[in-house]
Amino acid sequence: MRRALTEQEKGTIYIYNSRNRKKEKFIPVQENKVAMYTCGPTVYNYIHIGNARPLIVFDVIKKYFEYCGYEVKHVQNITDIDDRIIGKAIAEKTSTNEIANRYTKAFFDDCKALGTKKPDFSPKATDYVGEMISLINELVKNDTAYEAEGNVFFDVSKDSQYGSFSGKDLNSMELGNRVDEKITKIKRNQGDFSLWKPAKPGEPSWDSPWGKGRPGWHTECVVMSAKLLGGEFDIHAGGVDLIFPHHENEIAQARCVGNPKFAKYWMHNEFVNIKDKKMAKSVGNVVLVNDLVKKYRKEAIRLFFLQTHYRKPISYDEKHIESAESAVESMYRFWFLLKKAMKRSTSKLSDKEVLKIAKNQHLDQYKKDAIRCMNEDFNTSGAIAEMFSLKSVLEQLMEPWSDDNYAELKYGHDLLLDLDKFLCIIPKDEKSQIPFESLEIKKIEGLIAERTNNRNNKEWGKADKIRAKLMGMGVVIEDTKDGTRWWSNK
Ligand code: AMP
Ligand code: ZN
Repeated sequence: MRRALTEQEKGTIYIYNSRNRKKEKFIPVQENKVAMYTCGPTVYNYIHIGNARPLIVFDVIKKYFEYCGYEVKHVQNITDIDDRIIGKAIAEKTSTNEIANRYTKAFFDDCKALGTKKPDFSPKATDYVGEMISLINELVKNDTAYEAEGNVFFDVSKDSQYGSFSGKDLNSMELGNRVDEKITKIKRNQGDFSLWKPAKPGEPSWDSPWGKGRPGWHTECVVMSAKLLGGEFDIHAGGVDLIFPHHENEIAQARCVGNPKFAKYWMHNEFVNIKDKKMAKSVGNVVLVNDLVKKYRKEAIRLFFLQTHYRKPISYDEKHIESAESAVESMYRFWFLLKKAMKRSTSKLSDKEVLKIAKNQHLDQYKKDAIRCMNEDFNTSGAIAEMFSLKSVLEQLMEPWSDDNYAELKYGHDLLLDLDKFLCIIPKDEKSQIPFESLEIKKIEGLIAERTNNRNNKEWGKADKIRAKLMGMGVVIEDTKDGTRWWSNK
């Protein structure tokens, strides 16, 4: 079992809270616990790398809380009923269930391929329709919502604080919302949003006090978060496009049923853009996660996102993922060679002795600095820079290998592993290791065996040629009484 950080080690986490646009000290609702809700996908298509950004960002944040010793409960909803799902089902002449199941599975597969931890709960909207009807009914009864021709709308004029979360003013909303002429006519205010929609023939529907229909999108998260995390919980998160209208509308509903507290911290990641435009299915400028994970290691995709602070936009260019792949590869090569060298080492130091010797080398500073970065509103790029600096220091200690440096190297190795618990950029599983381990190591060790043979047969010219070839591959060798040792100088 991993030891949680001490109070002194973990320090204080500051979070930029979109609710008041300020960095605030993180004080959990319940001591040592973090309850977080991230708005999940509408399952009508494969996810693109814009959608992957919140998945990875909030995965690291969640793992960081766990690293600090918090018990995290994470809920991410699945919107499995929506106009777009219905549209896709009609286009494919199939059921909305079939569409939702297909893309829910694809979503979970993509999350796994990106190395994100499964949420504790992934509630589906269709499993909570009864609770949504109750909430809408409460709003109708207290006069903040009204029925009109089988629809139910939230009346924004009844909520004096409406708009305060996003900083929007009602007049600009009125212009923005004039889409459907019929709906425009039956709404009291153009900013009113839909809580319940009447079903068209053939559409999935549920019985309600307003006739057969289905809930609007903004109600599900209010209901599911309350049900699974309680009335007041710690973090509610998503992309910046959710600030308005989705989160403004969630907050308005919670406030008007007597829950003004709702989520304490609201966190929003900036966009992934492509040629200065937000990557979006509706624009058609998307790069699918499904395609990207076939070409690049998940660690490289994670590094690509985490190199930029989550509140800054990212401009997508495949070249940036390629360079993240090279950085991950260099980390992996180093990591692999370090592990191999440590195994071969004849050092007899115990863990206690390692700790004692290494403590004097100030390697801990890299960990402290990484934690300091993470505590500053999750500055992942800073934490990653600390990992790579630590790697450089250890590389210098490793080349050439000497058992005198064993303690520092072992300690540094453990520090890297420790920081990787939340950043997850060192390839460790079999799939991520294939490129280097199976191809290069085999090749290197094959050449070394051939050279040993040459040396045994006193074929010095051939042996020197192999040494030169290995040098060209970035491999340095040393002949010792226990055989030939090698390491990479890349
Ligand atoms: P959607 O399926 O559009 O509801 O999006 C799911 C999640 O991805 C939400 O948190 C969105 O805010 C986020 N998202 C969508 N597009 C982008 C993008 N281009 N960049 C960053 N986040 C995005
Ligand atoms: Zn939501």
